[in-house]
Amino acid sequence: MNIIKKAGLLENFLLQQKDKKIEIGFVPTMGALHAGHHSLLQESLRRDDLTVCSIFVNPTQFNDPDDYEKYPSTPLEDIQLLESAGCQVLFLPALPEIYPEGLSQLRQYELGFLETVLEGKFRPGHFQGVCQVVHRLLNIVMPDRLYLGQKDFQQCLVIRKLLSLVHLENKISLQIMPTIRETDGLAMSSRNKRLSPQARAVAPEIYRTLCYIKQNIQSGNTRELIQQGMTKLEKAGFKIDYLQLASADTLHPIEVWNGEENLVVLTAVFLEGIRLIDNLIVR
Ligand code: AMP
Repeated sequence: MNIIKKAGLLENFLLQQKDKKIEIGFVPTMGALHAGHHSLLQESLRRDDLTVCSIFVNPTQFNDPDDYEKYPSTPLEDIQLLESAGCQVLFLPALPEIYPEGLSQLRQYELGFLETVLEGKFRPGHFQGVCQVVHRLLNIVMPDRLYLGQKDFQQCLVIRKLLSLVHLENKISLQIMPTIRETDGLAMSSRNKRLSPQARAVAPEIYRTLCYIKQNIQSGNTRELIQQGMTKLEKAGFKIDYLQLASADTLHPIEVWNGEENLVVLTAVFLEGIRLIDNLIVR
C-alpha cells in the first residue's frame, strides 16, 4: 500500500492513474478503523480499479474539544487493516495539508434546513466542518465513487447536498453502505472503543429501542411510541439528545405518519459522557 502524506503528491499520483482511465473509489475516515469502515473499503475494492482511504481527524467538525482530544487513534492497527484488505492508497495528511490557510475564515456552505435539525441542532457547526474537510478531500482525490456509511444518515444527506452545491454531483457517484453492527446489534463506531465494559453491556439497548419502534409503528400519531422509546433508553441509563422519526428523504420531523412516507428513526445518546448515534430505516 502506498502511504501518502502530502496533498500535492497524492494529486500527482492520481493524475497519472487517471491517464490510464481507471476508476477511483474513495473512503474518507477518521481512523480507529473497524468492520464498518472495512465494508466500505471492500465495496470500493470490488467496484473500483483503485481504492483511496484517508485518515484525518478533522478538528473543524468537533463542537466539543474534549471529544476531539479523546478521539481514538490506532494508526498501526489501521495500516494493518488497510494492507490486509488490499487498499492501494492511504492518504494520511497533517493539518496544514487540509487547511493550508489555517482554520479561520473557512468557507461556509448553504446547507439550509439540513443543518438545523438532529445532529445539526445538537452539534452546531458540525456539518460545516464535515463539508470543509470533505470538499477539500474531494478536490484532492476527485474520485469516481465516494463511499459513506448509513450509520451517519444525516451526514449522507449533507454530503449529497454538498456535491450539488459544488457541482460535483454528476462527476462523483455517492455510494451509501449499510450499517455494520456487532452481534448484539450495537452499531460499530470508533467511539465504542472508549466505552467501559459496563457501558458496553448497556449500549445495545440503542439498537433494541430502534427495532422496537420499527416493529411497533403504525400510521397516525407516533408521539406515544417515541415516548416509550425514550423511557426505555432513560431507564437503561442513557442521556438523550434526540430520538426522532423523520422523513428519510428530507429529514423533516414526522409526528403523524401517513403510513406511506419513507421514514427513518434516528437517535443520539450519551453513555458515560460518550456520544453514540444510530438510525434505522423504518420504511
Ligand atoms: P468515521 O471514521 O467515523 O468518520 O467514518 C468514516 C465512514 O465510515 C463514514 O462514512 C461512516 O458513516 C462510515 N461508518 C462508520 N461506522 C460505520 C458502520 N458501523 N457501518 C458502516 N459504515 C460506517
